[in-house]
Amino acid sequence: MRKMTVDDIDASNKRIVMRVDFNVPMQDGEIMDDTRIVSTLPTIEHLLSSGASLVLMSHLGRPKGKVVPELSLSPVAEALGEYLNMKVKFLPNCIGKRTKDALKNLEKHRVVLLENLRFHSEEEKNDPKFAKELSSYGDIYVNDAFSACHRAHASIVGIPQYIKPAVAGYLMANEIKFLGTLLENPPRPFVAIIGGAKVSTKIAVLKNLLPKVDKLLIGGGMAFTFLAALGLEIGDSLIEEDALKTAMEIWLISEQMGGKMMLPVDFLVAKEINSDTPVRTVEYDQIPQGWKGLDIGQGTIQLYTEEILAAKSVFLNGPMGIFEVERFAEGTRAIFESMAEIAARGNIAVVGGGDSASAAKSLGFGDKMTHISTGGGASLEFMEGKELPGIAALSDVE
Ligand code: AMP
Repeated sequence: MRKMTVDDIDASNKRIVMRVDFNVPMQDGEIMDDTRIVSTLPTIEHLLSSGASLVLMSHLGRPKGKVVPELSLSPVAEALGEYLNMKVKFLPNCIGKRTKDALKNLEKHRVVLLENLRFHSEEEKNDPKFAKELSSYGDIYVNDAFSACHRAHASIVGIPQYIKPAVAGYLMANEIKFLGTLLENPPRPFVAIIGGAKVSTKIAVLKNLLPKVDKLLIGGGMAFTFLAALGLEIGDSLIEEDALKTAMEIWLISEQMGGKMMLPVDFLVAKEINSDTPVRTVEYDQIPQGWKGLDIGQGTIQLYTEEILAAKSVFLNGPMGIFEVERFAEGTRAIFESMAEIAARGNIAVVGGGDSASAAKSLGFGDKMTHISTGGGASLEFMEGKELPGIAALSDVE
């Protein structure tokens, strides 16, 4: 069933209650990265140009139900106003009489941002009274906060109980479109690349993707738990003892499916994690004692690149090595490069997950993928095949 989007509604003269994710990194009241603000602009601008007025709401950080002045959304209202070239009115509370009164006479084409929803514990508890109060501010609910959709909070699942239609903004609709296509109907060959530190955080996604992909390429620290499970010597590389059994189980599932899962064939190893330390490239079964694998090697890069370049859709979650240290960023960079190449040819290259999205941006691939998912936990849960509460709560297209 397709979910309604802002393209399915007539917003003229309507008042929109819009959940956004303005959970931006802040330092001393200054916004360090405004990606989350910028990525909601298409939806906000579209609704404004249709003649709507907007009541925006978001969380910021974890104030745990208390007013924490450092976690005020006030600086965001200012930044948003600059992008929209208009005044964005900021209300210092998201509920209460004053808020209600201030919103009473909201004119067409106006934008209001409410204070941090999580200053009230009712938000995370999905309190019905709180949700009802927030829903009283408008006639249509728009959710553009994909990255918060795995949480059954009042502003995510409570409000749409009271306002219909409840529709997806463009950012949200794009996430559903790209991640959904990969799970339901991926152009083939479909290759998934899963890396990062731990197997334990990716078990569900590995299990869900295995039957759907043509190839599953493993990289990052988690590769060593697989190798150790297979009885290989991994030196001082990262290992999750608790996940050895599960790693073996996943390996056996892959074997039953014709060996879809590929492990690195070589690694860049070092004794320490810094850019000056001596490095060596070794075969996967030759990691010396006292050395740790910190990136995939050239042989693996070549093997994985061939798979990616032959694919029509690719999904990546998790870096291939410790990309934060330049010396161990080469594997991740090379994989992004081949993903960018297939994206440029019109095929689908999607990066999902918080760390992977920042890796793509910091290595210069921010605008070279078909789609970079804004949701960390949410995109992982989506790719695990779970129904996200915030998506389930939206109105279906009749
Ligand atoms: P995740 O959040 O699970 O995607 O993990 C991302 C983190 O994995 C990054 O901070 C990387 O530095 C780390 N990582 C990648 N490869 C390795 C490795 N070979 N050993 C230790 N950590 C790694």
